[in-house]
Order: sequence, then structure tokens, then C-alpha cells
Amino acid sequence: MAKSIQAIRGMNDILPGQSPAWQYVESVLRDVAAAYTYQEIRMPVLESTDLFKRSIGEVTDIVEKEMYTFDDRNGDSLTLRPEGTASCVRAGNEHGLLYNQTPRLWYMGPMFRHERPQKGRYRQFHQFGLEAFGMEGPEIDAEVILFSARLWQAFGISEQVQLQLNSLASNEARARYREALREFLREHEAQLDEDSKRRLDTNVLRVLDSKSAETQAVLAHAPKLSEYWDDASREHFDGLCKRLDAAGIDYVLNERLVRGLDYYNRTVFEWVTTELGAQGTVCAGGRYDGLVEQLGGKPTPAVGFAMGIERLVLLLESQEKIPVTQTVDVYVIAVDADAELIAPAVAEKLRSQAPGLKVQLHSGSQNMKKKLIKADKSGADYALIVRSDDYEIKHLRDREQEDRIVTTIGDVAAVLI
Ligand code: ATP
Ligand code: MG
Repeated sequence: MAKSIQAIRGMNDILPGQSPAWQYVESVLRDVAAAYTYQEIRMPVLESTDLFKRSIGEVTDIVEKEMYTFDDRNGDSLTLRPEGTASCVRAGNEHGLLYNQTPRLWYMGPMFRHERPQKGRYRQFHQFGLEAFGMEGPEIDAEVILFSARLWQAFGISEQVQLQLNSLASNEARARYREALREFLREHEAQLDEDSKRRLDTNVLRVLDSKSAETQAVLAHAPKLSEYWDDASREHFDGLCKRLDAAGIDYVLNERLVRGLDYYNRTVFEWVTTELGAQGTVCAGGRYDGLVEQLGGKPTPAVGFAMGIERLVLLLESQEKIPVTQTVDVYVIAVDADAELIAPAVAEKLRSQAPGLKVQLHSGSQNMKKKLIKADKSGADYALIVRSDDYEIKHLRDREQEDRIVTTIGDVAAVLI
């Protein structure tokens, strides 16, 4: 036997048993996006490597060690997108969507990061994301957060997620804070974990979300970012908090929340859950006012978030919040060889007359007993037995009900819907 080929580690098939959950999640996401007047944008999964280096930042986990980068046949360096915001900005600039306009966009699709696969962390994963461009006030930060809060409500998991908020303030304020933090951490360098030591020079803010208990103990006495907030950023953040209060959204201020991508400023937020172990962040986002210009566009404020669909599906499964869907409503069987000839046509007529009804046609010429076993296994509520002059409708689940004989497909449809 030939050796079988396996999927790439960390890249999952979404099997038929799982796809109803995905379809459910995707349809709720689409509906909520429409209710907030966000429009879909679909970007390619491959982009120039420079796009991600220039936006996410050279000294980030993603760019340093997680990207799938290769030279194509022309020698151009390409990267499988690790996230959607950079592509969205690239597309907005390229097609003039952002100039003098305030587009509200959403996207959904696969992202690629070479990480260590584990529960909630994969090498191909899927994100749903929002981006709102051209609006600088805190009302739009509030809108994207309210959008995400509505999702949890729609999915019935509001109790399982917590909103954490922070402000990264202006670039200048953050630069001053970085210096202060670096100076403080240098005095305690010996107690820091190896990653954090390395980040002292390259990306000191990331030390704040180190997982090491020793590093966290040092950080307890470190200067706080909020002590360095500039007035305009403080006012923006207050404006956001007031709007969230008025809308009845609970949040906690997390001064250690800095996000792993360089492009954020002012508002950053994460929705976290304790139900998924270490991979607890379901949705993360914030403001990135400088990115459009940094990628060659006109200065355009922007805010957005990205949500991991695998983590959302895992959370919904753990809370048993995935609605059960029926694959087959009625299973069509022919009573004999003559009826087998017309059974496909009967199934067609039924699909026309009863839109939405899930009709599965039996395949093969077994005896009646075997056909009925198949009908039962299909999960259908009914078997429709096609006979030469009429149709027999058999109840497969509710055996108390009497089977019915009817003479037209119209009558069959009337019984089944
Ligand atoms: P983490 O801290 O868990 O690595 P991140 O900060 O790298 O997350 P973002 O780049 O902000 O994540 O992506 C937004 C969301 O996408 C995350 O909150 C998570 O739900 C999801 N996500 C990110 N990386 C992965 C992955 N490798 N597998 C599955 N989902 C992921
Ligand atoms: Mg990550």
C-alpha cells in the first residue's frame, strides 16, 4: 500500500461533523456585521513580506519567528498572511477606500503562523476581523467594542468572557514610558527571564506580558504606563470608558495589556476567558492611527479587532452553545426496480415544492429492510417510500405516529413541512 500523506502539523481539516458549528458561527458574525453596517472585504492570503515587516514590526514574535515566508519563482519574498489588518490597510490604500471616506470593513478567513500547535493555537487558524477607518473619536472605539459584546450575547457566552482595556497613549508618551521602564528593569535584570532580558533593548513593552512569575514579581513595582499618558490620550480613554459605562459594558483596566503588534496606539483591548486554558484571548484589538500613513497612505485614524474563530468554537462547544442541526429531514427510498427509475425525479420535485427541506436520495438496490436501516442511520425524521402509484411516508423517530399513504408530491410536501 502506498504511504498516505498527512496534513501539515497545526493545519486542520474542518470535518463534516464540525462544519455546522462553523457555519453557525459564520452566519451570526455576518448578521451582526450587517446590523452595524460593516461591509465585507476579501483579501489574498499571500502578500509581500515587506507589508508585514513594515506594519507588525520587525521585533515582534510574528515577524521574528512565526511567518511562513518564501521566495516565489520570480525571487520575490512573499508571506502567507499572519493577520488581516495589514492586508486590509494595503487594500484600502490601493483602492482609494480610505481617502475622504469612513469605511467600516470586516473580513474572515485563514491566517498562518508557525507556532507550537496546541489547544487553541494552530499554524493555520481563522480570524474574523473588523476595521473602521477615518474616525478619530472614542465613539468608534466604543462601537467596535459594543459590536464584540453583542457577539458574545448572540452566542450566549457573555458570562464566560471578560473585557480588559488599556491605553498605549501617543507614540511620544509611549517612548517616554519605554525609557522609564527600561531603566527600571535594567536595575533588576538578573531576575528577568531570558526572553525579557532580550526584549529590554528590542521591545521592552513586551516584557509587561511575560508569563514568567519572577518577571511579573519585578513588574509589580515598575512604573505604570498610565503615569505617562498624554492629556489627549487620557481624554480619549475617559471618553471611551464613559460610553461603555452608559452602554452597560463591564471592563477591567489592565495596565500590562500591550498587544504583540507594533502598530497600536491609544485604546487596546482583549476579551479573555478562563475556559480555554492558556489560550484565553478570544478577541483582541485596538486603535492604530499611524498605520495607514506608515504604509504609504494619507494620515487616517483607524480602530479594529480580530477574533480567533477556533477559540470561539472551542468556547461555544465547552458551554454547549452550538445549536444542533439536522443534516437530513427525509430519506427517499424506492420500493422496487421500477420505482428506482423515478425516485431521483421524485426527490427533485420534493425539493422544488418544499424549499429548505433536506432530502437525501438512497443509492443502490438493496432489499427494503436494508434501505430502511440506512434511512434510520441517516438521522432523517421520515422515510419517503416511492411506489408505482403513490408514496408512503414513514415516521422514523416518532414511532407512535401512523404511516401515511398519499398520492401526489404536493401532499408529501404538505405533510413534511
Ligand atoms: P496569543 O497571545 O494567544 O498568541 P496574539 O496576541 O498573537 O494571541 P492576535 O495577533 O491579536 O493574537 O490575534 C487575534 C486573535 O486571533 C487571538 O486573540 C486569538 O483568538 C487568535 N489567534 C492568534 N493566534 C492564533 C493561533 N496560532 N491559533 C489560533 N488562534 C489564534
Ligand atoms: Mg501570538
